[in-house]
Amino acid sequence: MHFKRIGDRLLFAVGVVVILGVIGIVVSYAIRQDQVMTRETELALTKTSESVEEGLAAVMLAKHAKVAPDFSERLKSVPNVVDFRILRIDGSEAFIDNETVDDVNRKLGRVEFLGHVASAQTTQILAATDPGLTRVRETGKRVFLYQVMPGGERLATSLGPILAQDGCQHCHDDGEKVRGVLKLTISLVELDADIQRTWQLSMALIAIALLIMVVLIYWAALRTVVSQIVDFSRAIESAARGDLSVRLPAAADDELGHMAQSFNHMSDELIAIYDGLKDEQDKLSSVIQGADSGIVVTDAAQKVVLVNKAAERLLGKNEAQVVGEGFLALFDDPDWLAARLAANREESGSVLREWQGRILGVQASTIRNSDGGAIGSAALLRDVTEEKRLEAQLREQSITDALTGLRNRRHFDSVLAIEFKRWQRYAQPLSVMMLDVDHFKNFNDTHGHECGDRVLSSIGSVLGSVSRPAVIPCRYGGEEMVVVMPGVAQEAGAELAESLRLKIAALSIDGLQVTVSIGVAGVPGRDASSGEDLLKLADAALYRAKQHGRNRVCTAPDSMA
Ligand code: GH3
Ligand code: MG
Ligand code: MG
Repeated sequence: MHFKRIGDRLLFAVGVVVILGVIGIVVSYAIRQDQVMTRETELALTKTSESVEEGLAAVMLAKHAKVAPDFSERLKSVPNVVDFRILRIDGSEAFIDNETVDDVNRKLGRVEFLGHVASAQTTQILAATDPGLTRVRETGKRVFLYQVMPGGERLATSLGPILAQDGCQHCHDDGEKVRGVLKLTISLVELDADIQRTWQLSMALIAIALLIMVVLIYWAALRTVVSQIVDFSRAIESAARGDLSVRLPAAADDELGHMAQSFNHMSDELIAIYDGLKDEQDKLSSVIQGADSGIVVTDAAQKVVLVNKAAERLLGKNEAQVVGEGFLALFDDPDWLAARLAANREESGSVLREWQGRILGVQASTIRNSDGGAIGSAALLRDVTEEKRLEAQLREQSITDALTGLRNRRHFDSVLAIEFKRWQRYAQPLSVMMLDVDHFKNFNDTHGHECGDRVLSSIGSVLGSVSRPAVIPCRYGGEEMVVVMPGVAQEAGAELAESLRLKIAALSIDGLQVTVSIGVAGVPGRDASSGEDLLKLADAALYRAKQHGRNRVCTAPDSMA
């Protein structure tokens, strides 16, 4: 049997124990009552039999044996007496036939008693070998017999001995201890009915007492133990649901009281821990929400659970949109973000992503617990537009000459090396021109250094305005400029140099004019095994230009020799 509630189980247990106890009491009571009833029945039967026996003895000794059958018949009409017989010791009924009368008359030698006229037949009531009769005969003591009739009626029979007395030998033969047997049978119907009534009443009283007892025990148990356990269970359920405000009365100094105290203490501790965690969470939330970087976090099922303000701003979407579209659709390109997540398993770091006119540094990663299990994903978004712009500006500055706006010497060196390799590998023609301002020292001395600077700046503008895309003009140092011309052979280079010389000569700076000398060297045509070689050839050509009177373009000699 299975009961869900502790009260029901208690009721069941108490009920079973009480019922078993009561059944025990009832059974022993019934057995005892049966014994008492039997003894009382036998006592009553004995008394009745004894008085009848005494009456009969008195009648017989007074030699009025004739009235015995009449006495016997009258006795049968007494209530509850079912049968009464006076038996001889062989079980036949006395005073019916004339056997005894004839014996007595014969012994006395005269007709003292007249025989019965109506019946002369011997009536056998009990067999001579009847065990009850035999016992009475042998012991001279009373025997009780019980029998149940087909209708259920119980009968009790007393077989009482008629013992030989002084005076009996007057009429009967001497020597027999038991002269006859009185068989008195009474019905136990009324007695049984009484017992039945008493039994029913007892049962009803016991049942009521039982019920009251069980109810009282149940009520007491409910009040003392069960109600506290129920309170405890409700409090635990509330706590499990997250309501830690429930407190249990903990006044009693027993196990339940200690349990209640422990529960209250546990709830206080949990609230303290919870408050602490909440504070930490608030701190973390305000840090996350106030962060410049965008943060998007999901749970283990990839459902977006956190989108901070910066993420909304950088993505150009509100929180509901991000949650609705899902984590992988942050940049409307699920494959890209999925690939970033997969890549980030091996390496960390952010990748750049152009998004809505800005450059974002995106770091997507899987969040793992201490056991290495994935518990969510996170994306960290940083606006690096300005950073990248400054970076580009810095890079530009690092290769640019401030005065002329041309590329600087460092850039020239690397470009020349790269382009020379290209010539070596692909035989793409390459020319270099080297330019030097004529008598510039004098110019500075005459017009001032600042004016000289303006001249250099103007020359830079002329060189910078060359429309050929591959041509890279650089300031080599001082008032010397170089131009790298990939894809341009020496002759074409010299033509370009000539056009530049003319343009510079035509300049008017503060109303003043300057001229330049230019040396050009190019491959194929000239013997150079490195960029430096080619530059030396151009320098040699420049030297020639200076030697031949300045303000001119010269090409490199056939060989450095
Ligand atoms: P040449 O015709 O032989 O080249 O004569 P030059 O006077 O130009 O001789 P050189 O090339 O040796 O002189 C270089 C002069 O260029 C020296 C210096 O005063 C000037 N110079 C170098 N760098 C700058 C600069 O940045 N600004 C100005 N204003 N002058 C410079
Ligand atoms: Mg010079
Ligand atoms: Mg010079």
